[in-house]
Amino acid sequence: MILPIVQYGHPTLRKKGARVEQITPEVLQFIEDMFETMHDAAGVGLAAQQVDRAIQLTVIDVREVKDRPSTLELDGKPADAHAFMPLVLINPEIKPFGDPATGPEGCLSFPEVYADIARPEGVDVVALNAKGERIQFKAGGLLSRAIQHEYDHLQGILFIDRMSAKARAEVQADVDTIQAETKAALQKKK
Ligand code: ZN
Repeated sequence: MILPIVQYGHPTLRKKGARVEQITPEVLQFIEDMFETMHDAAGVGLAAQQVDRAIQLTVIDVREVKDRPSTLELDGKPADAHAFMPLVLINPEIKPFGDPATGPEGCLSFPEVYADIARPEGVDVVALNAKGERIQFKAGGLLSRAIQHEYDHLQGILFIDRMSAKARAEVQADVDTIQAETKAALQKKK
């Protein structure tokens, strides 16, 4: 089932996600819906907050992006990042490392808003997968950027918070419009 994606101005986007204590059949169905929603919207990542649910769960799939490489290291050895997709991260913990790298980012909760954002080049990740198994890996390139972006969502942090003052100023008018539309729509629902 495709879930409605909430846009900036919706309060759930600012909520820190609760830990997922048990991977129930309902959570598995939610994961399936998250993938369907993300693929339908042609995104590379989707966090639970973006479908109005504040829990520590995100889905990622970078396979459709051909021009921005991803790297992966499993057990200290280089591995095929695309073969590791699609990826579910439950209760993830991350440690970004390396020099900041600047790259373009968008977000399904901010239609048509894009900006260059600096983030550490690599990331160390520990999380649970959909089977409840602990997974650990290092990522670089686009996959690292996507994981850091989605991890932020799980804490209620948005990519506009990571923009330079200059980049933020350039998108501010569009961001204000999205926020106003979301608030007006929420007001109508009441
Ligand atoms: Zn996002």
